[in-house]
Amino acid sequence: MFVDKAIIKIKAGNGGDGAVAFHREKFVAAGGPDGGDGGKGGSVLFVADDGINTLSDFRYMRKYAATHGENGGTNRCSGRNGEDCVIKVPRGTLVYDNETGRLMADISSDEPFVAARGGRGGWGNRHFATATRQVPRFSKPGIPGEQKEIRLELKLLADVGLVGFPNVGKSTLISVVSEAKPEIANYHFTTITPVLGVVRPPIGAAFVMADIPGVIEGASEGVGLGHEFLRHVERCRMLVHIVDVAGSEGRDPLADFDTINEELEKFNPELAGRPMIVAGNKCDLASDEQLAAFEAAMKERGYAYFPLMAPIAHGTDELIRHLGIELGKLPPIRRFEAEAEVLPDVDTIENRGVNIQNRDGVFFVEAQWLLNILRGINFADDEGLQYFERLLQGTGVIDALREAGVQEGDTVSIYDLEFEFVN
Ligand code: GDP
Ligand code: MG
Repeated sequence: MFVDKAIIKIKAGNGGDGAVAFHREKFVAAGGPDGGDGGKGGSVLFVADDGINTLSDFRYMRKYAATHGENGGTNRCSGRNGEDCVIKVPRGTLVYDNETGRLMADISSDEPFVAARGGRGGWGNRHFATATRQVPRFSKPGIPGEQKEIRLELKLLADVGLVGFPNVGKSTLISVVSEAKPEIANYHFTTITPVLGVVRPPIGAAFVMADIPGVIEGASEGVGLGHEFLRHVERCRMLVHIVDVAGSEGRDPLADFDTINEELEKFNPELAGRPMIVAGNKCDLASDEQLAAFEAAMKERGYAYFPLMAPIAHGTDELIRHLGIELGKLPPIRRFEAEAEVLPDVDTIENRGVNIQNRDGVFFVEAQWLLNILRGINFADDEGLQYFERLLQGTGVIDALREAGVQEGDTVSIYDLEFEFVN
């Protein structure tokens, strides 16, 4: 079975806690604070791997976690960082946040994508030593790693997609024009995983051709799989529509051609407008009248047409040459833009209570809802900072701090953030 959708859970590592420790040495009475910082938790990343063509690896292994950072030690020893968890996916996999439906990334390039960030390690107590607080008996806990439920969806990356009824010769064609070796058999539903082949035309750049499982097979037979698979031709820059011109299975070639085009249109009207050329295969089995009639029909409709006998590579050179030239005129393969994270309207945030602890003039603020929102804020821009202020005011965090006794000049520590309180 070809798997092109999966839901998995990912969890980045927590940051290690900072240590509370004091310097101890023989003959030295009371040493200063020397607790080390916690290590950073590992992140969860996605990377493209061209050796993988389906998401079937993700059917059973549904949880992926990076390791935690270690706690800080005595003697200023920092805890070790956690290790990243790198998830390999087929090139062209879209990564969605399954809770919000937001498209987080299109794993099409070689750039790794960090989908869940590891938590920062907490500071050891030595960071909290000041002239007036020489013996800080507290440290900062590590920040929890992000966790998410992720929906993966594969939309293969190919320049050229082959479409056509089962058994018309799609797999045969890709096997003779590229190094790909798909299964070729004289029965339907043979192709169960997509096969990508690199084709090197005499003119123009090498391109990727995709033989996609079950395109139309299901739809045309009422099995309902066809549309599922059509998603894989969505990105193709050109389509090669292969037709059995001999009608060797008793169907009419022209009717086949129209049926497939209707399916494409139904699935995604944009696809119907994609540049398409037509290959009339199984010419060896067709009569001269059949050949002439089909070719005339295609020309009349304005399609570039190529008669083929795929198994002996007859006619394939002309087809490949044409594809190479036409692809050179078309825009590159479509990449999907990641959607920006939308921060919640401050007034709509529910369960906004926070836990505040005053440790010797450092006010630690904790709440899971707050942490989740903070992760989405971009503190590098003014808008992000303004939102942050609105958030603290509007959700009552500032009031809660006042209630807890915060004074002008005290330190407020909210996970990654630390600032001086000003009235
Ligand atoms: P697909 O289902 O579209 O991938 O079709 P295949 O490539 O698996 O081919 C189906 C059958 O048709 C196989 O038995 C092929 O050997 C045969 N076939 C493919 N092209 C030709 C052709 O040009 N002439 C003849 N006679 N048979 C062909
Ligand atoms: Mg096939």
